[in-house]
Amino acid sequence: QVIYLNGEFVSKEDAKVSVYDHGFLYGDGIFEGIRIYNGNIFKCKEHLDRLYDSAKSIMLNIDLTPAEMEAAMAETIRRNGLKDGYIRLVVSRGPGNLGLDPNRCPKSNVIIIVEQLAIYKDEDYENGLKVVSVSTRRNIPDALNPKIKSLNYLNNILVKIQANLAGVGEALMLNSQGYVTEGSGDNIFIIKNGVLTTPPSYLGALEGITRAAIMELCGKLGYTVKEEPFALHDVYVADEVFLTGTAAEVIAVQQVDGRTIGAGKAGPITTHLLKEFRKIVEIDGVK
Ligand code: PLP
Repeated sequence: QVIYLNGEFVSKEDAKVSVYDHGFLYGDGIFEGIRIYNGNIFKCKEHLDRLYDSAKSIMLNIDLTPAEMEAAMAETIRRNGLKDGYIRLVVSRGPGNLGLDPNRCPKSNVIIIVEQLAIYKDEDYENGLKVVSVSTRRNIPDALNPKIKSLNYLNNILVKIQANLAGVGEALMLNSQGYVTEGSGDNIFIIKNGVLTTPPSYLGALEGITRAAIMELCGKLGYTVKEEPFALHDVYVADEVFLTGTAAEVIAVQQVDGRTIGAGKAGPITTHLLKEFRKIVEIDGVK
């Protein structure tokens, strides 16, 4: 396995950055998680747009242009000989001193890791995940806008810890008003009477690229999808609930806080969307 580190390709053992990197000291940086399907970078433009928007928002300079970044990802994939897998793209503020001031960090670190993906098992897609809601609140937008895919994932990690303690795979975060926002690393959709609803990102959710792909797919397949706030009650009484994310794709939810959703397995619309989504990624891969 070779890793891209600031223009060089190094082995996993040699892929090291300074302990003075502000990404390490303060979580000062951004990242992307991207899929490779059939040797192609899925939704490359969308991921790069989000990365460069995040960078702009936190005034982080990336030495590479988006085209150069794409070429660097493609070369990393080629050198690792992967047809299907996952790309972790990290840009940190880079090494500085112990002070917070980003001006002390003259050069950002750009890291590209390409790996096989340990995805959910087939039966998880068929049976759905058990999830719980947790007390950790999603960052409120005026603290750190969740649209920024930053290296500050402590909130999400606290959510994951609560999920682990509850013995389930994923958990739902509410915002400070009590509206459902998203999971620790995925967006949520609920379905009631054939209509899909996902929380608007202003409530405090990352604008997931899989979420957008599913909304587009819904349009093509003739499903109505709305972006509207909803509460946990609406999740409990939904006919179907599913999560979307780069790694998870489209995964059904079987149970929320002990309430069984629908028939307690992936429902017909969720199953249909997963099937159609997988067709798209294959077609996009062939391009
Ligand atoms: N929400 C959070 C907090 C995430 O970290 C992710 C993963 O990137 C998502 C949602 C899903 O976004 P995407 O579909 O772009 O992977």
